[in-house]
Amino acid sequence: MPPQPPPHWHQLDSQAVLTHCHSHHDGLSAEEAASRLARYGANALPQPQRKNLLQRFVLQFHNLLIYVLLAAAAITAVLGDWVDTSVIVAVTVINAVIGALQEGRAESALAAIRNMLAPGAIVLRGGERHAVEADRLVPGDIVLLQSGDKVPADLRLLDTRSLRIDEAALTGESVPVDKHSAPLPADTELAERSNMAYAGTLVSFGQAHAVVVATGSDTELGRINAMLGSVPAQQTPLSRELARFARQLTAVIVAVALATITLGIVWRGYPWQAMFMAGVGLAVAAIPEGLPAIVTITLAIGVERMARQRAIMRKLPAVETLGSVTVICSDKTGTLTRNEMTASHVQLRDGLLQVSGSGYAPEGGLFRHGQPQQYGSHAGLDALLQAAALCNDARLQAVAADWHLLGDPTEGALLTLALKAQLPLDELQQRLPRRDAIPFESEHRFMATLHHDHNGQRLILLKGAPEVVLARVSHELAAGGVQAANLPWWQQQAARLAGDGGRVLALASRQQPHSGCELTFDDVAGGLTLLGLVALLDPPRDEAKQAVAMCRAAGIRVKMITGDHAATAAAIGRQLGIGDGRALNGHEIDALDDAALAAAVQQVDVFARASPEHKLRLIAALKRHGEVVAMTGDGVNDAPALKQADVGVAMGGKGTEAAKEAAEMVISDDNFATLVSAVREGRTVYDNLKKAILFILPTNVGQALIIIAAILFGVALPISPVQILWVNMVSAVTLALAFAFEPTERGVMRRPPRPPGAQLIDRLFLWRLVFVGLLMVVLPFALYLQLLSQGAGHPLASTMAVNSMVAIEIAYLFNSRRRHASAWRRDTLLGNPVAFGSVLLLIVLQLAFSYLPWLQALFGTAAPSGHHWLLAAASGVLAFVLIEVEKALLRPR
Ligand code: ATP
Repeated sequence: MPPQPPPHWHQLDSQAVLTHCHSHHDGLSAEEAASRLARYGANALPQPQRKNLLQRFVLQFHNLLIYVLLAAAAITAVLGDWVDTSVIVAVTVINAVIGALQEGRAESALAAIRNMLAPGAIVLRGGERHAVEADRLVPGDIVLLQSGDKVPADLRLLDTRSLRIDEAALTGESVPVDKHSAPLPADTELAERSNMAYAGTLVSFGQAHAVVVATGSDTELGRINAMLGSVPAQQTPLSRELARFARQLTAVIVAVALATITLGIVWRGYPWQAMFMAGVGLAVAAIPEGLPAIVTITLAIGVERMARQRAIMRKLPAVETLGSVTVICSDKTGTLTRNEMTASHVQLRDGLLQVSGSGYAPEGGLFRHGQPQQYGSHAGLDALLQAAALCNDARLQAVAADWHLLGDPTEGALLTLALKAQLPLDELQQRLPRRDAIPFESEHRFMATLHHDHNGQRLILLKGAPEVVLARVSHELAAGGVQAANLPWWQQQAARLAGDGGRVLALASRQQPHSGCELTFDDVAGGLTLLGLVALLDPPRDEAKQAVAMCRAAGIRVKMITGDHAATAAAIGRQLGIGDGRALNGHEIDALDDAALAAAVQQVDVFARASPEHKLRLIAALKRHGEVVAMTGDGVNDAPALKQADVGVAMGGKGTEAAKEAAEMVISDDNFATLVSAVREGRTVYDNLKKAILFILPTNVGQALIIIAAILFGVALPISPVQILWVNMVSAVTLALAFAFEPTERGVMRRPPRPPGAQLIDRLFLWRLVFVGLLMVVLPFALYLQLLSQGAGHPLASTMAVNSMVAIEIAYLFNSRRRHASAWRRDTLLGNPVAFGSVLLLIVLQLAFSYLPWLQALFGTAAPSGHHWLLAAASGVLAFVLIEVEKALLRPR
């Protein structure tokens, strides 16, 4: 039976909602969920319609440059010059086909990446918790929410614990609202329905159980049709700069073309038809038609490459910013370390125990002076293990020979520890059922649970960071029973254990007479009995050490900002090569004013016991020094810091949806090394864009100069407008595209970051543009004149001028593969296979251009002979050598 939607979910009490949804507290069965999924469809909003090939093709014509070309075609048609008309039309069509195909490819790359960010949800099905993709949710599913989650569907809350939800996505109200589960009057406004959680909003605090009442397009979000999780098309600062540049260029070109036409008619007395054709040629020559497509495809290929390396860009502009990052602030746990915790030591008041075994498999044991210790043999150990196992939300699953952890690694390690000592978990959970809990949050750094025993006693268990727990402790459990706590001794032990790089947790308990089923912060504010400490090892990732070294070579400073203890953080920092053993604590940061903190961030690289607010202050301090900061984060409270960083990096695995929403980039394997390879890729993309532009523009300058020179010197055009169109088109689709596939330069991570705000079009760039542009005029022009003087006709001479220009472009492709370094090297000449393919294709096209009769007719070309080709090749070689000499002379030392 499908649930009949009642008028208002918020009006019903929890039981009535469940009845209406034909669901219950244990959730739906797997079969029922599957059949509802078939009936209601996926819990997803319809994807925005993607443009099909034809639409993309038509849209390519909606472009200032193409309008200029089409106008030129119309006028040549009126003048009866059908050849020119058809060539210009053909060029615009071919350009549009290529543009449409490339855009399609870029769009698919980005769409694929969007899918990689599909959010998940935790549901109860048949009483068991399951992690499912959010689009599998159906009405009636019971969903578990916790802080940082994105609400996956419209939910009616069944029970809540300090739940607060940020509904900005729906209502625009950015202050999180408190939620509960009690029924509300029927006429309550949407924004006031505090027993509902709506799809697309973010849980900023607390936990809840809720039942799904609407999915997909039936949700409020679906109804207002705001697109959930859609990443809008964005322009990067670079592409904006380029677009502006292209517009200015077009204006300049049109002005120069008009001036040239006027000069030609008035000063040199040419017929206006010829001058008009020359003007068209000039405009067509100078406009870099291929540029926008090259930029799009280079960015898209970069983003695709990054995704293959598990770094998913959510916001395109960050690709460029990544390349100029000067400081990376990284979390420790899980990013620099493996986040595979294993208990190594247990410190009781009367002695230290070693723990053997690795991973989450409860194999191995506890030893004191080499003697195995088990649950049941030592009252102090028993109490500690009970707390470790019960004040714990993790579960272990044996799958074949492997043990899998569901939940938090810190808690998984504690559970494994208890099981290694043969603690009877099921029996204990029945004897001491949990009544309430204060979940772990990074802000308060502890977790507490309330249990009732059958003798009418309340047992409170607490575990957390030693300083936090010790501050609430008055007694300790020793061999002789409970006694006043020796806090300095415990602090010493905690510092000693942390000094080895271990994470240290303290465990405590408190017995109370039966008084209610609720656990409040006051209940754990003091009077607890300390049971002992547990040290957990979380080894650094092997790749992280290398990645840190790579950053150092690349002029990028790595800072570790962690919630862990200073001694732990400093020890891990030492193992990874971060910092000099000094660590600044959260409360020490609090004691510094902004100026002092700005000075401190220059000195110290390790920050411990840091909260998300500290992250914010650290970013501000770093930015004050002009640093470009990448910052990692995972918690819901990291969102502001992720937004404030130049590149916010969320962890795909342990990161919350809130963090991912705020971030520019998501690292799907949570690995620091992946972040560093993304930086490398960011630098590559920027390099490649710059190379592509530096390659394309001189060709346009050269071609335009040829026409201007011909007019000013009163000679026939060595290259006709249609021939120029041909050159532009074939070089854009072959040579320029090769830059999008340029592999990363070897030294890319051995040079300092690009200074922020560095101009793309700098002085060297402009100079090279002019220099190469001049070569492209002088050499083909010289060849043209020489052939004429040797008695060749205009068609042959101009064919060879075109071939010479193409040869120079081919040579210049290899010059441009390195901006400063010599191109006369094996890896520069052979390193990009796409470049070779492009060159081969271009040669074939030039052969067709020179020999195929119908192309000869179209372009006015004539068949050259062998030695003509040698001359063209010689002009290419000469240009290559001259440009290399220029590079050598201007190379920065
Ligand atoms: P990083 O920022 O490097 O990832 P972190 O995320 O490990 O650090 P938190 O998770 O905020 O830092 O943990 C801070 C401290 O809280 C830990 O050092 C530990 O003492 C304590 N702690 C961590 N997890 C739990 C837990 N599940 N229950 C109780 N206390 C915990």
